[in-house]
Amino acid sequence: MEKYDVIVIGSGPAGNAAAYGFKDQGKNVAVIESDLWGGTCPNRGCDPKKMLMSGVEAQKRIETMIGNGFEQTPRIIWEDLMTFKRSYTDSVPQNTKEGLDSVGIDRYQGQASFIDVNQIIVNDEVLTSNQFLIATGQRPAVLPIEGQDLLQSSTDFLSLEHLPKKITFIGAGYIAFELAVIASAAGSEVHIIHHNDRPLKEFDQDLVADLVEHMKEDGIQFHFNVDTKAVELMHPQYRITGENFELITDMVFGATGRIPNVEGLNLEKAGVAYDKRGIKVDDHLRTTQHNIFACGDIVAKSQPKLTPVAGFEAGYVVKAMAGKEEAIEYPLIPTIVFGDQRLARLGVSEKELSTHPEKYHSQTMDLSSWYTYHRINDKGAKIKFVYDEEDKIAAISCLSQLADEVINYLLIALTKKMTHEEIEKFIFAYPSPASDLSYFI
Ligand code: FAD
Repeated sequence: MEKYDVIVIGSGPAGNAAAYGFKDQGKNVAVIESDLWGGTCPNRGCDPKKMLMSGVEAQKRIETMIGNGFEQTPRIIWEDLMTFKRSYTDSVPQNTKEGLDSVGIDRYQGQASFIDVNQIIVNDEVLTSNQFLIATGQRPAVLPIEGQDLLQSSTDFLSLEHLPKKITFIGAGYIAFELAVIASAAGSEVHIIHHNDRPLKEFDQDLVADLVEHMKEDGIQFHFNVDTKAVELMHPQYRITGENFELITDMVFGATGRIPNVEGLNLEKAGVAYDKRGIKVDDHLRTTQHNIFACGDIVAKSQPKLTPVAGFEAGYVVKAMAGKEEAIEYPLIPTIVFGDQRLARLGVSEKELSTHPEKYHSQTMDLSSWYTYHRINDKGAKIKFVYDEEDKIAAISCLSQLADEVINYLLIALTKKMTHEEIEKFIFAYPSPASDLSYFI
């Protein structure tokens, strides 16, 4: 029976980063992974999505210049774009394994299941440890409707060999929006069905409305306030039905959220409590069992479930499991919906802003005529600043082709509490999005 100082369950951005941290502390570490080494982000999440998005970005850059030196929108050849995606993703599991091997972290392939607070079983092998870190992440939720087995997931989309002519997403969160933009740019007729009329509810609804309009102009069709009741196979197509609603489509993707990977872990045997949002932890990321911690997407938390958050928690938990006293404190976390137009935000949540509108006031700037945006013909570029009662910036939302870059600059400025005078002390390269910073703060 192998004995370790720490066993990490899950090799995603959270578990993998933590395993290296434990090793750096001189600990004897093992990682258990039931699926692809490297986890969701590099295999079936952020990274493959952005590889495909590169094709969209290239195409849309030219599309915005039609009439200004260009005549035609270039066509995306899906099969070639997929090959490009695989040029990154194919080697991820092997590289992850080799990385762990190279520093002497033991690896086990299989589903981990607790026997008690100090023992875990993988396949038929029992491993013991003083401490455990659960970093098992999430998987796509399956909508409980008739025909649910016919629904495909984001994982399926990111490996589609051929792009169907007509694709439908059920759900209107960030994953559905991003995959819809990719499919539409690559030539599919795309539909998004949502049970209410508030898509992307964690984002500023004025800018979401602008984004929806922009996507409609690109041909994406939205069906709001539709409660999907059933999906039927009508060889070779599918029929989606709801009350007074029917749509025939070539493929249906369920994009109605993600659920924690707790099944199979036998958490009851280890005394680890969880609910439908994930594993319960205290402010040291300790579960209800003193020697078992959790981090990343598996944790029931209010912070967004994103890769950099998982990495931040991994860095913290390595110290917490070695006895660090201070509770975890999260910095500002930016969130982004990627596309040709990106929607980015940071700061006080939309829920807080809409619950206490009396405490906040806002100002929206149309950026489309600013040189930075005029140059790239970004007609929809906008930024919205929300201020608190002391006129301090409480939240920022930005919609533009450059929103991801801009939000990161503003993140640094806000975190460092920089004033206009401090920003003016920098000489930023011009012309670039950073050179606009002093007009914002
Ligand atoms: P995961 O990466 O999910 O890793 C958990 C690992 O645990 C998995 O490999 C799983 O197989 C393994 N596991 C589960 N159960 C067991 C078990 N019992 N035994 C052994 N192993 C087990 N985030 C961003 O920041 N930016 C983005 O643009 C972005 N885009 C995304 C797009 C999509 C389509 C998806 C699905 C996600 C996206 N995310 C994005 C979210 C990001 O992928 C996750 O936040 C991140 O992967 C979480 O890391 P994690 O280590 O907590 O979990």
